[in-house]
Amino acid sequence: MRVESVVTEAPGVVSITVKGHRLDKMKTASGQFFIWRFLDGPGWSRGNPYTLSAAPTHDRLRITIKAAGDGSERAVQLTPGTRVLIEGPYGTLTARRRTQPRMLLIAAGIGITPMRALLEDTPYAPGEATLIYRYSEAQHAVFVDELHAIAARRGVELIFLPGPRRADTSWQAAGPAHLDDDAQVLKDIVPDLAHRDIYVCGPPDRITAVRKAARGAGAHRDNVHTEEFAW
Ligand SMILES: Cc1cc2nc3c(=O)[nH]c(=O)nc-3n(C[C@H](O)[C@H](O)[C@H](O)COP(=O)(O)OP(=O)(O)OC[C@H]3O[C@@H](n4cnc5c(N)ncnc54)[C@H](O)[C@@H]3O)c2cc1C
Repeated sequence: MRVESVVTEAPGVVSITVKGHRLDKMKTASGQFFIWRFLDGPGWSRGNPYTLSAAPTHDRLRITIKAAGDGSERAVQLTPGTRVLIEGPYGTLTARRRTQPRMLLIAAGIGITPMRALLEDTPYAPGEATLIYRYSEAQHAVFVDELHAIAARRGVELIFLPGPRRADTSWQAAGPAHLDDDAQVLKDIVPDLAHRDIYVCGPPDRITAVRKAARGAGAHRDNVHTEEFAW
């Protein structure tokens, strides 16, 4: 495969679309990730995991990378034409995990990538999917236009929650003291969450905080599906 395009989404965040042939033979699903190697010079053999940020097609895959260290900083500077090797697909944060008709997707930071893809092609009816997107600052939010377009087309409820973290152990943004109860706040936003599949993606501590709040709000353990962007 080769890099077809590199699009800046936010400071230090790019979407990379790669083009290949018969990619549908891999039976990849939205929510999955691959180990990516870009043949852009010495050191290319070190692979990094990145999740699809758009539903896969027969000839294209898209990922969205936030520069966080040596490999990802190099990846955000890729140019079209660069050859690409992938290993996978890996991961189970897919529609196959569904047990309920309704879904709640919760993304922290660049953990929005699988949610963006899942919203695109997962089966659900208008009003059955809610996305909560937590990020620190407005300039770091990605896919805002794409999410609004999907929401308009498929009837998704979008809840954007910007702001610095309330505490290391909280999934919420900083705010008034009466919102200290993480589980109650989540239940206030999504009252029927105990009857939904809950998909969560982001850094490990954010996932721990969401899982705790969701369980406290009545969600069954088997209905909380997570992918940790740990490295
Ligand atoms: C399954 C999966 C899917 C992912 N999908 C995406 C995605 O879609 N988009 C995206 O932008 N990122 C994604 N990531 C994260 C991404 O893989 C990493 O940010 C990237 O590989 C880091 O490599 P690097 O060489 O750039 O950084 P490194 O130089 O390896 O370090 C990156 C940062 O992580 C810290 N770090 C390094 N090792 C550890 C460690 N063992 N424990 C804790 N912190 C450490 C470093 O201090 C630095 O701040 C995903 C990760 C996983 C596991």
